[in-house]
Amino acid sequence: MDTSGNSLPSGSDGSKRKVCYFYDSEVGNYYYGQGHPMKPHRMRMTHALLTQYGLLDHMHVLKPNPAREKDLCRFHADDYVYFLRRVTPDSQQELLKHLKRFNVGEDCPVFDGLYSFCQTYTGGSIGGAVKLNHGHCDIAINWSGGLHHAKKCEASGFCYVNDIVLAILELLKTHERVLYVDIDIHHGDGVEEAFYITDRVMTVSFHKFGDYFPGTGDIRDIGYGKGKYYALNVPLDDGIDDESYQSLFKPIMSKVMEVYRPGAVVLQCGADSLSGDRLGCFNLSVKGHAECVRFMRSFNVPLLLLGGGGYTIRNVARCWCYETSVALGVEIEDKMPQNEYIDYFGPEYTLHVAPSNMENKNSREMLDGIRAKLLDYLSKLQHAPSVQFQDNPPETQFSEENEDEDNKDEDNKDERIVVDSDVNLDYESNAATGKAKMEIVEPEAKDQNDVMAIDELAREVESTVIDTKNSKDSTVAGEADGDDAPVYQDSNVAGEADGDDAPAHHVTEKSPIDEMDQL
Ligand SMILES: [Zn+2]
Repeated sequence: MDTSGNSLPSGSDGSKRKVCYFYDSEVGNYYYGQGHPMKPHRMRMTHALLTQYGLLDHMHVLKPNPAREKDLCRFHADDYVYFLRRVTPDSQQELLKHLKRFNVGEDCPVFDGLYSFCQTYTGGSIGGAVKLNHGHCDIAINWSGGLHHAKKCEASGFCYVNDIVLAILELLKTHERVLYVDIDIHHGDGVEEAFYITDRVMTVSFHKFGDYFPGTGDIRDIGYGKGKYYALNVPLDDGIDDESYQSLFKPIMSKVMEVYRPGAVVLQCGADSLSGDRLGCFNLSVKGHAECVRFMRSFNVPLLLLGGGGYTIRNVARCWCYETSVALGVEIEDKMPQNEYIDYFGPEYTLHVAPSNMENKNSREMLDGIRAKLLDYLSKLQHAPSVQFQDNPPETQFSEENEDEDNKDEDNKDERIVVDSDVNLDYESNAATGKAKMEIVEPEAKDQNDVMAIDELAREVESTVIDTKNSKDSTVAGEADGDDAPVYQDSNVAGEADGDDAPAHHVTEKSPIDEMDQL
């Protein structure tokens, strides 16, 4: 397999990178409940492998500062965040109306410490963005993040807070353009939706498409308005193997990097696209999955690596451990070192396990067609006059966001983000599309002093996107009683009359748990 990138200014791909790794030793203790496939314990298993392979010695290990309410509210609705903060397993009976409204309860259960879990995984992603913005590292890693399905005012697909959107908003303070790449088996719908009408963020999602959660991610969905061609979707079928996957990933991502020239890249490394995943149906090996990391790393652009799905947890730990070694440029042996979870990894006790012999339903013709279509979209973007970006990013300053595990400074916690005013994120045109209607439910007196223009602008555009795009969705969601999967026609972001720009697509809302039960 070709492991070379194509634009590394500093020499071979084997050159070292400075890596910051975010980990909270508490994160493995959160528990979604009996039988739930999402197991935060997998982060602890990953960490144990990193420790025993000696990889922690090669990187800066940081404990994330928990994201604060006002951090979460830069994307999420105030009342939704307030609800997440106060709901507990004991109080949820009194909050039934809200549970339903915010889609909390089934796939996204209320569990002990839910809010602090959200604060922790989000703190790692925002912290990684801050470290990259400061140039303190080349690559930042937060395997507990990557919860790409969460919406502005709704939990979805085991995700409550969209740490990715919040991390990208942070990166946008320094970088004119941010690229988001998603290799989870599920469509990265929450992130795509948040940035659907802007060219400041390009989203590219590779996912299983067709009768599969969350139902979005049609190849014809390409962004809208100023964001047209800045959202790309690569729909795939069951059983895709390493070679087929890379026959799309590399040419598409090469062209994206060449045309879009992002200042930073966020790669969501959902491991449910691995062979043998409890909820997935792809056939990637750990090496095939990690090839995406290796390839994106080779462009030598600040890189934020996040987790995501992944439900056969021994393979998730294998994958994220190996991908950490790839990020570092350190080779680790296949034979697994002794570690406290070694029993999970039998009978092989190796890092790499062979994929299965399942059928690859992605024919050569189909793959060729998908690649041609996406390269065609990118050629339009290449020639679009709108590809004129400011080269001088706005000046922003932050106080130190994160702290070393051995260097805690409690006093610093509330002065995490200090943003200069007069920051122009070029959101005006988006905000001006008009339909932004913020649902402000002030849960508590907020200190507005450090909520500067950038936050307001960011929230304004998110509100615009979500409110316009979700106007139909939310109605349907409100009507959907019980467990029946509502089938609805997702609305265009704006201007339904203009069918060419953003084809309306049918969305089958299906629970990932339903899919698990089918296996
Ligand atoms: Zn997933």
